[in-house]
Amino acid sequence: MTGIILLFPLLLFAASRQSYYQKWQSLFQAKNYPEMVRIYQQAIREYPQEAWFYVFLSLGYQGTNQWDLSASMAQKALQLAPQDKNIINNVYSLLVQYAGYLGFQKQEWNKAVTWYKIASQAKPDDFLAYHMLGNAYRVLQKYDLSFEAFGKAYLLNKNHVRQKGFRENLLAAVREGLKAPDLKTRQNFSELAFLVFPENKEIILDAMIPLLQSGNQQKIQSRMKRVPNLKPLLATAVRVLKNHCEQDEFLFYKGDYLDYSFIGKVFYECIRNLPYKQQMNHPVINKVVYYHTLAAKEYTKGMTPIKVQSPLKGRICCYQGAGGKSFHYGLQAQFAYDLGLCQKNSFGTPIYAALSGVVDSIENNQPDRPPGSPVDLKARANFVVLRHNIGGKTYYSVYFHVRRGSVRMRVGQSVRQGDKIAEIGNSGVTAGPHLHFFLQDANRYSIPFEIMNLSTADGTPASIWQEGKEYIAR
Ligand SMILES: [Zn+2]
Repeated sequence: MTGIILLFPLLLFAASRQSYYQKWQSLFQAKNYPEMVRIYQQAIREYPQEAWFYVFLSLGYQGTNQWDLSASMAQKALQLAPQDKNIINNVYSLLVQYAGYLGFQKQEWNKAVTWYKIASQAKPDDFLAYHMLGNAYRVLQKYDLSFEAFGKAYLLNKNHVRQKGFRENLLAAVREGLKAPDLKTRQNFSELAFLVFPENKEIILDAMIPLLQSGNQQKIQSRMKRVPNLKPLLATAVRVLKNHCEQDEFLFYKGDYLDYSFIGKVFYECIRNLPYKQQMNHPVINKVVYYHTLAAKEYTKGMTPIKVQSPLKGRICCYQGAGGKSFHYGLQAQFAYDLGLCQKNSFGTPIYAALSGVVDSIENNQPDRPPGSPVDLKARANFVVLRHNIGGKTYYSVYFHVRRGSVRMRVGQSVRQGDKIAEIGNSGVTAGPHLHFFLQDANRYSIPFEIMNLSTADGTPASIWQEGKEYIAR
């Protein structure tokens, strides 16, 4: 008798396994994630060996932004049913999303790498986790590992790179990977570029450079055959690299902005491996700047400069202006300005948003280099990139070398023109604390702009900064 009475409450509260299976879909579709969490916590207490309940709870945790719990529930499901294909598919997708959250939302790319790897172990024959791993390594500027992961994703599924999002990821990685410090990695990305982007002239020209340097005549000839219209340009580049850039074989060359950009890059190869100071003093740097400037001028011909507010306020100086030889040239950097205080150390000076927009990307964890350290071409900078919409077009404003920990915003957050966004620091390739500021268009190319409320130190109105001059910005 007593036995029956004691059992009764249990029967009242315990739902059947079956009913738990029936509930999740409607809750999930109604996006009632808190209820999913509550119900499947209960379900797991009653049926701790039921792998699916961990998957449902994981979905609930994801919906309520409890990402760490979501990932551990997904892993638990996998432990319980390591052979179940449906469980594996769901866990895989949950883990890839968790890794994405760590990277894209929290900018914790090292952790994202770990979780993309865990996901890829769950489903080693799928391209997605490898592709995303490649992207995470790209953000971390580990280009050799990035190539490995992207290469694996490509071999597992050659068609995935036809989809827009994946294609854009890979394009960014190839573009950066072709500038990687070691030649082997540049050559690897060169191979990938010819496979995936044979119609992209900019990429193919960039991809030719490491190939030309390899000296592999057979390969060079066969690649040149695939881009017959570029042959004269490439043949000249071969001669320049062979003559160690002493002659200017390109002197009367007429081309488009990509051709000029390529020529600038070919000349830079002549000094690439020299230390920074020797690069700046080498006669070839003038050719590098000349052709890159030609490219940028050609590209921005006829553009109306955008009007922005000065990112620094008060009495400021321009240390290096547009077209400066310390990397203020070319499609990606022509209209860049190094700004700071005139007499005092600029470290800690507030930086303000030049335009209203949304936080596009940030880096906030690179160390500030000690005062007086020599320029290190491998040092990485903290930065803020804001995204703007002007007349239906996308633009970016870019703020480099900011102080570690001074960025108190999150990606996706809205920012108003004039809001404080960071402070001047000394992270990255710098000779001292300053702000490296420029604007980009949707192609991520540097474009001309004008400053509102700017005057020179004697009160004459000015529209842009010039190297070595003093300004008052309001
Ligand atoms: Zn600069």
